Amino acid sequence: PAAIVALIGRPNVGKSTLFNRMTRSRKAIVDPTPGVTRDRHYDRVEWKERSFILVDTGGIDERGGDVMAGSIRSQALAAAEEADVILLLLDAKQGLVPADYEVVELLRRVQKKILYVVNKIDGPEQEQELLLPFYELGVEPLWVVSAEHNYGFATLMDGLVEQL
Ligand code: GDP
Ligand code: MG
Repeated sequence: PAAIVALIGRPNVGKSTLFNRMTRSRKAIVDPTPGVTRDRHYDRVEWKERSFILVDTGGIDERGGDVMAGSIRSQALAAAEEADVILLLLDAKQGLVPADYEVVELLRRVQKKILYVVNKIDGPEQEQELLLPFYELGVEPLWVVSAEHNYGFATLMDGLVEQL
């Protein structure tokens, strides 16, 4: 069976934008309002003769605070159950937030391959400044990408299919 790759992360980090880029489709709804993706979306992705099933997690009833932490928790656990590889997306524009530490802590106990991806680094000139805070999480390597502008995308995809 095809490997399953799950995109997880807080609302608005860019999961659906990355899903769209990876699947080259418009299936996932991208909306500037946090938490707008209501459903889980699946599609097949092909990259350099490799293929896998990508899952865009969503359906988060996002109201902030504890609800957010709880949603990330259940989302992470659900993704961990069904996925072979997890892409944890982090938001470089928002920077490191407490929920990021929580989800990283949770994922430490998950026996899956995990790629830690810092999204919204829209070009090389932003990389040094925006990436630095995320090393506080203590996870490496950190993958750099701009789901919207394609920066780092091919490198990420190469790294991802190596994990399959
Ligand atoms: P999701 O809630 O995690 O699915 O996030 P979305 O994919 O819906 O994106 C949330 C917002 O972030 C939208 O306004 C996107 O246009 C924006 N966004 C996503 N990726 C990037 C990126 O690489 N760079 C920038 N600057 N904005 C992005
Ligand atoms: Mg979404």
